[in-house]
Amino acid sequence: MANLRLYAVFGNPIAHSKSPLLHNYVFYKLGIDARYIRYHLETSDNFRDLFFNLNLSGANITLPFKESLIESCDEIRGIAKEINAINTIVMEDSKLIGYNTDATGFYQNIFKFNIKNALIIGAGGSAKAIAYILKENNIKVSIINRSEPNLKDFRIRGFECHLSSEFKYQDYQFDLVVNATSSSINNVLPLSTSMLESIFRDSKIAFDLMYGKECKFLELAKKYNLKVIDGSKMLLYQAIFASSLFLNINNEKISKAMSEIYNTD
Ligand code: NDP
Repeated sequence: MANLRLYAVFGNPIAHSKSPLLHNYVFYKLGIDARYIRYHLETSDNFRDLFFNLNLSGANITLPFKESLIESCDEIRGIAKEINAINTIVMEDSKLIGYNTDATGFYQNIFKFNIKNALIIGAGGSAKAIAYILKENNIKVSIINRSEPNLKDFRIRGFECHLSSEFKYQDYQFDLVVNATSSSINNVLPLSTSMLESIFRDSKIAFDLMYGKECKFLELAKKYNLKVIDGSKMLLYQAIFASSLFLNINNEKISKAMSEIYNTD
C-alpha cells in the first residue's frame, strides 16, 4: 500500500467523467499499483496544497479550470504554453509540470487525412487548442464565432477571424469543418442551416467535439456525404497521451489497453 500512486481528475461538474474508468483500466492491465479518482473542485484557490495533501502523482484538469490552474504549476511544457490551458499535471521531482493533451488528442483523429485548410466554429478554450495544433501542422485555419470578445486573442496571435454573421462563406472552401462550440450540447446548430449547407457542399470532413449522443451538426454533414467524426476518440486519445505522461511509458501499450474498454466505433 505504501507505494500506491494516486491520480485524480479535477473539474466542476465531474460526476460524468470517464477518466477514472480509462486510467484505472490501464493501471489494472499493466499491473501498476495506482488508483485514479474523480475530485469535484469548487475553486482553483489553494490547488497546490490540495494536490500535495492528497499525495497525488498526477492529475487531469477539466472545465472550468484548464486556464486558472496554470498558475499552480511550476513549469508548463509544449503546446500548453501557446494555448495557455492545461489538462494534465505530472509531478516531477516534487514539481508540478503542466501539459495539454487535448490538442494532440484532437489531431490524432485527423492526421491521416490530406487536410489543407480548416474552418473552426467557436473561439473558446478547445478552439484555441485545435487552432494551434492545426497551424503547427501547416493547415490553414479560419475561425468564426458568434461574438467578438473570444476572437480577440486569436486575432492577436495572427489567426484569420470572422464574426459568424459577417462571414463571406461563399469565398471559401474548407477540407475540414470543426464545431468547437458547445451548441451541440443544446442540440442546436452553431450557424444557420443555409450557411452550414453551403460550407458542407465543398467540404470533406465534419468534426464535432461533443460525444455520447447524436448532434444536428453531424447529421447535416452526413446529408452532404462528409466523413463525420465526433469527440469520443479525442477524449480517448487525450487520455492515452496523459497516461503516457503519468507512467512515462510509450503510447502503444496504453492505447491497446484503453481501446479494449472504450470502443468508440
Ligand atoms: P468554451 O465555453 O470555452 O467555448 C464555447 C464556444 O462556443 C464559444 O466560442 C461560444 O461563443 C460558442 N457557443 C456556445 N453556444 C453556442 C451556440 N449555441 N451557437 C454558436 N456558438 C456557441 O467551451 P470549450 O471550448 O471548452 O468546449 C466546447 C465544446 O467542446 C464543449 O461541448 C465541450 O464539451 C467539448 N470538448 C470536448 C472535448 C473532447 O475530448 N471531446 C475536449 C474539450 C471540449 P461565445 O464566445 O460567443 O460565447
